[in-house]
Amino acid sequence: MSYHVNEKGYYGQFGGAYIPEMLYPNVEELRQQYLKITAEPSFQEEFDALLKDYVGRPTPLYFAERLSAKYNTKIYLKREDLCHTGAHKVNNTIGQILLAKRLGKTRIIAETGAGQHGVATATVCALMGLQCIVYMGEIDIERQAPNVARMKMLGAEVRPALSGSRTLKDATNEAIRDWINNPVDTYYIIGSVVGPHPYPDMVARFQSVISKEIKEQLLEKEGNENPDYVVACVGGGSNAAGAYYHFLDDENVNIIAVEAAGLGVDSGESAATSALGKIGVIHGSKTLLMQSLDGQITEPYSISAGLDYPGVGPMHANLFATGRAEFISITDDQAMQFGLQLSQMEGIIPAIESAHAFAVLDQKQFKPTDVVVINLSGRGDKDLNTYIDYFKL
Ligand SMILES: *Cc1c(COP(=O)(O)O)cnc(C)c1O
Repeated sequence: MSYHVNEKGYYGQFGGAYIPEMLYPNVEELRQQYLKITAEPSFQEEFDALLKDYVGRPTPLYFAERLSAKYNTKIYLKREDLCHTGAHKVNNTIGQILLAKRLGKTRIIAETGAGQHGVATATVCALMGLQCIVYMGEIDIERQAPNVARMKMLGAEVRPALSGSRTLKDATNEAIRDWINNPVDTYYIIGSVVGPHPYPDMVARFQSVISKEIKEQLLEKEGNENPDYVVACVGGGSNAAGAYYHFLDDENVNIIAVEAAGLGVDSGESAATSALGKIGVIHGSKTLLMQSLDGQITEPYSISAGLDYPGVGPMHANLFATGRAEFISITDDQAMQFGLQLSQMEGIIPAIESAHAFAVLDQKQFKPTDVVVINLSGRGDKDLNTYIDYFKL
């Protein structure tokens, strides 16, 4: 069995491109071009050079000694928190903007919820001197003021989405509308392994540098390029897809996906898609999705804005359905405690998204000889106010 996308754009029964007809030319152009362009040596060279000199890759694989002693197993952290802009998201926006340039596009659009993808997109647009328009729900603009300021500082225009619940879903609708109206000069940078084919596969490939590096680094440190476990948090699923990518077809490597349970899986205030989701279509792909009995998308909740998403990408839906990955869900409180623990045991303040992944250490018993790689997707600077409020610091 392969866990990669097939030529029709599906992972098992999930994926595809469920899009309005008006969008077909844009998505089809991308589908026909993305593998060809990204395989060109000049593309690879420019991508690798920017990852190295601009993003700061390879990111370290750090052996967490005190944490390992406490949990009596070998814990390595993949330090995506050290990437430029503070998280893994920039790996993908660099890849997509290089693709956009080669497609001759001059205008970049994106949607953002918490603002992290908007910042990563605004960053690469500044780098390349391209126009950048970021759609963001009006409510999110109020909640995420520092990221709005960052995007403006970087030269992007932030356009509020005023319809519906005025959050991520509505921002996505506005971005799609913009793309339909500007099919020739505009490229839409999607921020996770979601959206119509080929986006999930394309984003997974750009993020796969994470597992490529893990293999090289483990070979050097452990004499074996495969860990026993690779663990990552899943919002849409891009940092997880990158951390799993080169291990997917090797069943000796156990894959663990950590979702946000919010106030509890059954509380009605959660984002635990694998536990609560049913098959449905969101952002142009068929996947697992939290929805009401009549198919209305349920508003998700998590204390971490990056995991607050009602679906997962189709690759992850398939990893769940086939049992290739084990899915666990972690509450706000558990994640916050692990955020504090990592800060005080290793001197690393993680993004609250990433803190969810660490709660696997409470949930599962590992053997002393196990090599456990946890993807530390981002740093906690952006979450300081949430930490302050929660711990009354
Ligand atoms: C956005 C974000 C996530 C969630 O997105 P994925 O696509 O699931 O990776 C996780 N961690 C951090 C630090 C983020 O900024």
